[in-house]
Amino acid sequence: MQDIKRIILKLSGEALSGKTGFGFDDEMIDKICQNIKILTEKGIEVAIVVGGGNFWRGRSGTNIDRASSDNIGMLGTVMNGLRVQGTLEEIGLDTRLMTAISMKEVAEPYIRRRAIRHLEKGRVVIFSAGTGLPYFSTDTTASLRALEIGADVILLGKTGTDGIYDKDPNLFDDAKKFDKLTYKEILQKELKIMDTTATSLCMDNDMPLIVFGIDDPANMVRVFENENLGTRVKESF
Ligand code: UDP
Repeated sequence: MQDIKRIILKLSGEALSGKTGFGFDDEMIDKICQNIKILTEKGIEVAIVVGGGNFWRGRSGTNIDRASSDNIGMLGTVMNGLRVQGTLEEIGLDTRLMTAISMKEVAEPYIRRRAIRHLEKGRVVIFSAGTGLPYFSTDTTASLRALEIGADVILLGKTGTDGIYDKDPNLFDDAKKFDKLTYKEILQKELKIMDTTATSLCMDNDMPLIVFGIDDPANMVRVFENENLGTRVKESF
């Protein structure tokens, strides 16, 4: 953990909505935020990328054009950002919410150097509104922001699993968990962990990733203490 100074934590909308899959699960959000606090107390600078799948995914919109549908999705992530910010502040953390689509009445516009400054001052920074561009995902946002702010690793919290498996562990008893994988293997085996844009961005720029099970949010701390927890992904080992 000593060599980890700055992380991007990707929180999907699903993680924030708990079992219902829609809206907010207050208890779950509390637990997630408490564990973010533990990470900051260990001296780690934490930046968060929030998803929006608990409200809307661009590809779910069948009666409107994709770009408009994606804009709805990005606005959903701002709602999640505000919700997470509220609890983080409630438990005593200093935070800044940034948006990739300007809405300065509710949050700061995303400015890379300013985000880095906030982190250096010990603030938890929440990146919302994705990349600000349709046809992208918040996984791609996490990869992009991780590179921009010089994060040491991306923590990708998954619901319903505790790492990357060769097949769905919820359907197959003999599914095998990978402790380590390269990005090339993810692409070759067509493992559905992040979309290919996000995977390629990490692969091309050698950004390490840890996939962990967020159903128990304490795992975001445990992965740094136990090498066998979750799956570590790198460009090469
Ligand atoms: N989105 C987008 N551009 C981005 C990030 C997100 O258009 O850079 C839209 C897209 O419609 C996506 C939605 O926002 O479906 C919610 O994000 P995502 O599906 O990645 O959220 P998650 O599945 O992580 O909750």
